[in-house]
Amino acid sequence: MSNPSVSRKRLHFETLSVHAGVEPDPATGSVMTPIYQTSTYAQDDVGQHKGYEYSRTDNPTRTALQEAMAILEGGRYALAFSSGMAAIDTLLRLFEPGDHVVSGDDVYGGTFRLFEEVIAAYGIRFSYVDATDVNQISSAIRRNTKLIWLETPTNPMLRLTDLKATAEIARQAGILLAVDNTFASPALQQPLSLDVNIVIHSTTKYIGGHSDVVGGVIVLDDTEIYGRLKFLQNAIGAIPGPQDCFLTLRGIKTLAIRMEAHCRNASQIALFLTDHPSVDYVIFPGLDSHPQYDLAKRQMAGPGGIVSFRLQKGEAAARNVVQKTKLFTLAESLGGVESLIELPHPMTHASIAHSQFAIDPGLIRLSIGIENAQDLVDDLAQAMAKT
Ligand SMILES: *Cc1c(COP(=O)(O)O)cnc(C)c1O
Repeated sequence: MSNPSVSRKRLHFETLSVHAGVEPDPATGSVMTPIYQTSTYAQDDVGQHKGYEYSRTDNPTRTALQEAMAILEGGRYALAFSSGMAAIDTLLRLFEPGDHVVSGDDVYGGTFRLFEEVIAAYGIRFSYVDATDVNQISSAIRRNTKLIWLETPTNPMLRLTDLKATAEIARQAGILLAVDNTFASPALQQPLSLDVNIVIHSTTKYIGGHSDVVGGVIVLDDTEIYGRLKFLQNAIGAIPGPQDCFLTLRGIKTLAIRMEAHCRNASQIALFLTDHPSVDYVIFPGLDSHPQYDLAKRQMAGPGGIVSFRLQKGEAAARNVVQKTKLFTLAESLGGVESLIELPHPMTHASIAHSQFAIDPGLIRLSIGIENAQDLVDDLAQAMAKT
């Protein structure tokens, strides 16, 4: 069989989105990857099979998804999971009691909850630092630190970390750097190319892109760590079913053009909000008012599709606006083709509402979809009238 990760290396991202990991099915010629809805596989003799024994261990639809994600992130290996949290949990099983992790202090609420309320009970300790400042990352490294964990851009504050500089810090300390690349997607940022060791995604968001499937993935280059993670994936069993793998693969085909539309629409909406008299501030990496605008331009191929903002009248006005939008649906999650609006403090970030990392209750987060930008602006304008 041809090795797509080698033969396709020089193709452009739009082309890879459509073709990565997907070959006509050898049995039938089916152009689309079949949904191999099976738990087990016939063996010719004891232990003699075509590479598949049992679907927790391997399933051909999942193999196609894993190959696609490895190629899109420019990595050698990928492993798919039943959710982003399952991927992060499995990754953390690489570590042992007594180990220490340095994490950004603005990570996904569910990740913070997993670290503090699940993993910490197994004797792994976490320090949280403002990762916009790489000196704070290096100062937090101890003799028992094994991992740096980052998101960039973060959710919902859209803070960035210089990945190249952090990778150098990790290399010098002899520890791993893992990046949750959910917000940028490989269309905008490929951390492995900046010497990051491990990339994680919630494929529920931009990768799947249609708000119809939950999933996660780990991508990496290191053969030994891959072997350990592959063992853990099978041993723990937090794997996605073939139908979910199929849906995620279908979403991936339009990742490149969706991200272009998300970025274009989000840029227009960020400008509209910036000029709006009721708005206190707008956070968007594509605005030159963003404190890390230069890093965003250097590190990312586009500003992304998430815009956060605060109204001058704060929480009461915010609660009013999220009820009045008609095109923007009030909902958690992000990264789908449809636009969503939410209040992070009581919704997605409820798990940190009482911690030191609580979000301003008046902050509104928009996940900008691929609708017409003017229609989205008009919807926000009517919802914000009289705020
Ligand atoms: C949604 C999300 C997760 C968790 O992924 P699930 O698929 O919901 O389990 C992790 N990190 C980030 C940045 C996310 O947005």
